[in-house]
Amino acid sequence: MKPQPITPEPADAAARREIAPVICYPRDALARPDLDRYRAMRNGLQLTERRTILPRGAGCWTVPAGHVFRILCTEGPQVADLNLFNLANLDERFYSGKTRALNGTHLGRGDQMFSSFPYLRPMATITHDTLDWYGFDAFGASVHDVIGTRCDPYTHALLSDGGQYHHCCHSNLTRALAEHTGKPLAAAERLVHDVLNVFMCTGFTRDTGQYFMKASPVRPGDYLEFFAEIDLLGCLSVCPGGDCSSEHSSDAAACFPLAVEVLKPMRPPEGWQPPPVNRYDRTHGVGRV
Ligand SMILES: [Zn+2]
Repeated sequence: MKPQPITPEPADAAARREIAPVICYPRDALARPDLDRYRAMRNGLQLTERRTILPRGAGCWTVPAGHVFRILCTEGPQVADLNLFNLANLDERFYSGKTRALNGTHLGRGDQMFSSFPYLRPMATITHDTLDWYGFDAFGASVHDVIGTRCDPYTHALLSDGGQYHHCCHSNLTRALAEHTGKPLAAAERLVHDVLNVFMCTGFTRDTGQYFMKASPVRPGDYLEFFAEIDLLGCLSVCPGGDCSSEHSSDAAACFPLAVEVLKPMRPPEGWQPPPVNRYDRTHGVGRV
């Protein structure tokens, strides 16, 4: 948040502010998936697995490359925090910040979720979103953001004079990853990373630039669908904030379970290949790795 300025404006302040912005990462520089082919793949999807994830908890699942998974609202408005990993190498994980820089603040159909350095490649492509009608509202808010992080007990302690709460998404993801991988809790916690906030409706206030949330427009029957570009381990926390209309990091909000489905297409998109890892040679100007 910017404080009241104490520095006098320079004479050319208005001219400096009038400079037009430049998109940091122009869309046409980034190879985009052939969405028509991905959409054609959706005909004849076969359900291979369905699981329910309970509120204030999390669950893990795996998806083979070339398959699809969906996160579904089944009983009531509820948001969730998604982590993704390369199933064969948990060091390669979703990179929310670079995904935001490449795609924008909120993800939609055709956007790809990128992995961390030094891999930086698409891990998953969003192939369907029943909330695409929402767009951006009058507050500048939209759904499925990559601008928040994940609710966590450390920030909660910071803001509540040392308060203890154990079912933030960060802790839910930690417990689920510990159980799935067999790693000790502390090692599993280090795997948790910034998320895709599925169904969450968020933005930044226009006047102060503060991160805000509002009641999610998601309703039973809505879902977000992803195509797995590589073999994936997914982990989803069903957020203690419920629809995030009031607060999170407590047991006060009404919460509902969510479902995760894995589906197998009859054939992958025409011409599709799993993307290779990033081509940067990693010498960083030294001439050797
Ligand atoms: Zn949360």
